[in-house]
Amino acid sequence: MAKHTEKEYKSILNVRKAADNWFWNRYGINPYNGCEFNCIYCDSRSSKYHLPEDFENAIYVKKNAALLLDKRLSKARRLKPDIIGVGGTCDPYQQAEKDYKTTQSLLKVILKYRFPVQVVSKSNLIIRDMDLLQKIKEESGYCNVSLSITTTDDELSQKIEPSASLSSERFQCIQTIKQNSSIQCGILFMPALPGISDSNQDMELMVASAKEANADYILFGGLTLRDKQAKRYFREIKTIHGDIPVIYHKIYGFSDKNQTYKGSYTANMEYHAEKNSYFIDLCKKYKMAYRIKRFIPNDFRKTNYKISERFLNNAYFLQMINKPYKDLQYAGFTIQELPKAIEYLTIPEYNLLIEKFTEKAKKLCDKYLSEEKLLFY
Ligand code: SF4
Repeated sequence: MAKHTEKEYKSILNVRKAADNWFWNRYGINPYNGCEFNCIYCDSRSSKYHLPEDFENAIYVKKNAALLLDKRLSKARRLKPDIIGVGGTCDPYQQAEKDYKTTQSLLKVILKYRFPVQVVSKSNLIIRDMDLLQKIKEESGYCNVSLSITTTDDELSQKIEPSASLSSERFQCIQTIKQNSSIQCGILFMPALPGISDSNQDMELMVASAKEANADYILFGGLTLRDKQAKRYFREIKTIHGDIPVIYHKIYGFSDKNQTYKGSYTANMEYHAEKNSYFIDLCKKYKMAYRIKRFIPNDFRKTNYKISERFLNNAYFLQMINKPYKDLQYAGFTIQELPKAIEYLTIPEYNLLIEKFTEKAKKLCDKYLSEEKLLFY
């Protein structure tokens, strides 16, 4: 059992430079520091997050989290309502939440200020807050819940995510949310572990199970391997699997000799292209969405967000199939962050905006704007 320590913090809300193009969140909150679910592949263990070594044993509970958030949002004239992502780095429904209810107290504040929300978890404790999340959906117009599931096999999930809810419990959780609310709810199938949970059969079972659970979407992502996190991952995989599967030598450049890997911290392009295109075929076969619907604000950003969603979805698809995508992504982000409604730009302002876009992006911009049936003046 992990040690829980209550601690006062100075700030709680992280503000991103631009809304994220996978989860669409602009703000982020972590109710806890540390995560006792102890997944063997956890990316939060890498140095870039500056979390302690005993990440799974020493959990810091952000005692004044709700108070800090209330203060921040009450003075939020310059914070436009946009998605607050809860628990991006440490699971918001880990065991400590049963006693401290920090996540629940933060959701109550989010409801009070009518901000849209996005929650990611590996725990069926989230069902406890389903009514609260539904209220947020009704008041803000948006609530997204993602259950992170990396395998359909309970026995394997117990080995790789020892203290999280079983995979079958997480699928059940999606079913319950879908049956009893209008919350957008789906699966993060990430990371698919090379040689462990990424075979064609594993992938098809996952997409079929998502369909059966009535999930709204399934997002797919590969394993990243960085510094401390990589070392621990390889150590654990050896224990579970008996050895490091050969595929790691090929796609990450893993070397047995010094137990290190060279090159990129992600798998090579060939691996990604193969897995992504197979995943997209599966989504077509099972009629599953592979993107989350974004929050569309009811203010000057409305059309900007709708258009940027289409650009960024297009860019995502191109990236998945290993085609050039950066120009479309750039156009999507630029429109998303416009300080003025795109339909109210003057013709010179509009021309200036699309001047930096590629021909393809310019055509798409005109097409999407005309589909929105807007008039320039
Ligand atoms: S639930 Fe998420 S944050 Fe917690 S250990 Fe697993 S991967 Fe890391």
